[in-house]
Amino acid sequence: MAKDLSKQRFYADGLQFECTGCGACCKLGGGFVYLSLEDVGFAARHLDLSVTVFSETYMALHKGEYIFKNKGDNCIFYGEKGCTIYAARPTQCRTYPFWKANLKSQYRWKMIIDECEGVGRGKTFSYEEIEAIKNQTSQTPAGPEPDSLK
Ligand code: SF4
Ligand code: SF4
Repeated sequence: MAKDLSKQRFYADGLQFECTGCGACCKLGGGFVYLSLEDVGFAARHLDLSVTVFSETYMALHKGEYIFKNKGDNCIFYGEKGCTIYAARPTQCRTYPFWKANLKSQYRWKMIIDECEGVGRGKTFSYEEIEAIKNQTSQTPAGPEPDSLK
């Protein structure tokens, strides 16, 4: 019989998260935003650019994988008021902080509390909701629109 994994995970009773739009996750020095082809097409269309022009302008290769370039320590799309392609941000950004790596252990999750002020506030995501986001069949709700932030 299959084991009920939900009872074994530290987030069996859910985890709280609500994005405040602080932008800290876009400013993680040395951070990498990995991209799927779908992410690239989506963002290129959003900026009304061909995939070729978009990739030449905004993308780089890191160990054989496509990432967004950085501007200083920030993601290249991070502007004065936050993400400049918020409606077309890639899956990695749409599923933060419920990434597989962050959910590996309670210890790892506690490190995220220091990175993201949205952890521990707002809605409690159930085990099932977290699993769906972790497996990228769902996403975390959008934070405040960057233009609405002072
Ligand atoms: S996900 Fe967390 S770190 Fe990123 S903008 Fe929202 S609250 Fe800030
Ligand atoms: S694409 Fe937008 S949300 Fe994602 S890291 Fe870059 S600035 Fe942040």
